[in-house]
Amino acid sequence: MSPIEEVNAYVREAAGLLDISDDLLTVLTTSYREVTVQVPVRLDDGRLGVYRGYRVQHNGARGPYKGGIRYHPEADIDEVRALASLMTWKTALMGLPYGGAKGGVQCDPHAMSGRELERLTRRFTNAIGHVIGVQRDIPAPDVGTNAQTMAWMMDAYSGRYGHSPAIVTGKPLELGGAPGREAATGRGVVYCLAAACRRWKLDLATLTVAVQGFGNVGSWAARELVECGARVVAVSDVSGGLHDERGLDVVALLERADRREPLAAAAGHLGDATTNTELLELDVDVLIPAALGGVLHEGNARSVQASIVVEAANHPTTPEADKLLQDAGVRILPDVLANAGGVTGSYFEWAQDIQVFQWKEDRFNAELRDVMERAFCETADFAEGRGVSLRQAAFAIGLERVAHASTLRGYV
Ligand code: NAD
Repeated sequence: MSPIEEVNAYVREAAGLLDISDDLLTVLTTSYREVTVQVPVRLDDGRLGVYRGYRVQHNGARGPYKGGIRYHPEADIDEVRALASLMTWKTALMGLPYGGAKGGVQCDPHAMSGRELERLTRRFTNAIGHVIGVQRDIPAPDVGTNAQTMAWMMDAYSGRYGHSPAIVTGKPLELGGAPGREAATGRGVVYCLAAACRRWKLDLATLTVAVQGFGNVGSWAARELVECGARVVAVSDVSGGLHDERGLDVVALLERADRREPLAAAAGHLGDATTNTELLELDVDVLIPAALGGVLHEGNARSVQASIVVEAANHPTTPEADKLLQDAGVRILPDVLANAGGVTGSYFEWAQDIQVFQWKEDRFNAELRDVMERAFCETADFAEGRGVSLRQAAFAIGLERVAHASTLRGYV
């Protein structure tokens, strides 16, 4: 199955728990708008690089479209479509006044210079400028993009349409970013896990954790876990991973990551070398995939030893693996819930930009914790009440809210 077929399989499964007409389901399993653009960029050596850019707006019944922009060699329309759909269910589950969108440019950001990335970002922003807007569609960072990317997008858009800090979220603080937003996805992952531990009568401080991916989400999650007293025994990035049963020195690893040093280069010094494949199969209590999609699949799901999987990445588990893990009794905190701290923090940033009033980080974190805990409890109540998985419950809650808004608007 392609990524969008996989996401739609979850949507259809959730629809089976609700009273949703076939007509409405057709609307909700297809995108509202898909824009594909050519992004020509003059490279530093004089050659012309010609890239493909995408912005998919899945559903806007509940508010402006919202979703990140990914720069990755494998970003394509099908992946972006699937991620846009996930955003629709995620924003609805979290009770945010947004629809769902996603964007991407098929490129390798690590092989490009800063100037090349700036030109690419400005070109891409101009190319999709007519479909985004402060009350229409608000991009944010995702894999391969960051606050600097958002600063260029905001500048390119503002140059054409007037000063618009609220056109993107995840910006630098100096340009209207919100204190707390950068850490929000990773912190939200841990707030969600902490809420789950309370419900399941587990002590987070006694758990061992492996985190795949040490970028924005994985590194902030690892930092927050250590603050909660949990033992982070393995982390990895694209170069490979490190493992130490006694717990890794996450602070030292963060310093290396800040200097852009690959984790694998610290093997033997800050931990034993491990591969990304081995990390997923370690004997830990909690596994947090926080890199790319599809890493837990039919081929490796039976080897997962963790009893809790927290989906910090988007769509890290294929439906086949989801079933195998459920059958094995593994508890899965699904992506639409577990990593929703990012879009929730983006909502806080957007609201602050519109009001031209900046919150203190303490308030940001307290509000984030409230939203994550409430969404977890609603999802767990539904799951227990209906005898379904947390993923089915999360999709069903999101779907019901989007279906209701779509019907009220007269989409069908
Ligand atoms: P990032 O680019 O900051 O970090 C990605 C990390 O994954 C890096 O450590 C990278 O080295 C590693 N990686 C890349 N390819 C890999 C591979 N093949 N195997 C193992 N590791 C690999 O990205 P991010 O913003 O941290 O996003 C990570 C995941 O979280 C993505 O699935 C993204 O969609 C999801 N997410 C991000 C946000 C956000 O606010 N940034 C919000 C919600 C969900």
